[in-house]
Amino acid sequence: MDVAFIGLGQMGSGMARQLMDAGHRVTVWNRDRSKTEPFAQRGARVADSPADAARAGIVLSMLADDSALEAVCFGDAGLLAAGPKLLHISCSTVSVALTERLTNAHEKAGQRFVSAQVLGRPDVAASGRLSIIAAGPTPDLDEAQPLFDAIGSKTLRMGERPVMAAASKAAANFGIAAIIETISEQIRIVAAQGVAANKMVELLKETDFGKRMFDVYGPMIAEGRFEPAGFPLKLGRKDIGLAIAAAAGGELPFADMLASRMDAIIAADGGNRDWSALGQPLAVK
Ligand code: NAP
Repeated sequence: MDVAFIGLGQMGSGMARQLMDAGHRVTVWNRDRSKTEPFAQRGARVADSPADAARAGIVLSMLADDSALEAVCFGDAGLLAAGPKLLHISCSTVSVALTERLTNAHEKAGQRFVSAQVLGRPDVAASGRLSIIAAGPTPDLDEAQPLFDAIGSKTLRMGERPVMAAASKAAANFGIAAIIETISEQIRIVAAQGVAANKMVELLKETDFGKRMFDVYGPMIAEGRFEPAGFPLKLGRKDIGLAIAAAAGGELPFADMLASRMDAIIAADGGNRDWSALGQPLAVK
């Protein structure tokens, strides 16, 4: 396919290389033109502007943030000036608000827009194994699928509106940060009793902690199924208390927040439902 790639940073350079390796005819544009040189040497066309890049008909963009994506779309010789029919596949991690604004602006320009935000670090991008979180009209996602297959190992379609991908990616990254904080607090708890950090990490990996949590608790929370209580919330609250005590004064902001939330639920309903009842709507603050 003819495709243009805009934004040859840490992530974009690997993604553009994967598109070339998969045999697509690639045009590139980057604000700092020197980053296009390795691509030109491999036969890519170097565009003079985002609008020029859009002559390929399909553009993937991978830019730092909202303001970078705004500059590429709304700026002089930006994508919105490129004329009708363009399919813009936006891969940057950007806000729901800008995603909505771009959906409307592209539509007004007679163009098409999908969001395809990605999970995976630069080494994963360089090896074409990203997870693609995509949303947009089905025919446009179908058209983009061969490109998703070149840059990713799996595509998760979240719905028909591009904002659905933006929200899903933001939620996924929140989860990663929350897990990083959780691991940090777990290590702080055991360190207070002399356990080596790498021993705790070994324990977490041995128990396949992460995946089992999603398998067991994900469906219970998604379906609001908190009974029967395999593990009542009030017992879970006891254990959070044990962890806070074991940390012997070590800072555990996440654990403290969980303890307060569990206390509120116990005050409201006795805490006899499963501890996945943390997933109930926040009527209980
Ligand atoms: P990066 O290496 O800093 O690359 C940023 C790109 O944005 C560069 O091509 C840069 O151009 C361009 N850019 C910045 N401001 C611009 C502007 N005003 N006008 C035009 N171009 C502009 O960042 P990255 O790590 O590739 O990340 C790109 C996106 O992927 C971000 O939204 C990030 O959150 C997301 N992401 C990153 C990772 C990761 O692990 N790094 C993982 C998943 C998703 P110049 O070369 O000219 O500076």
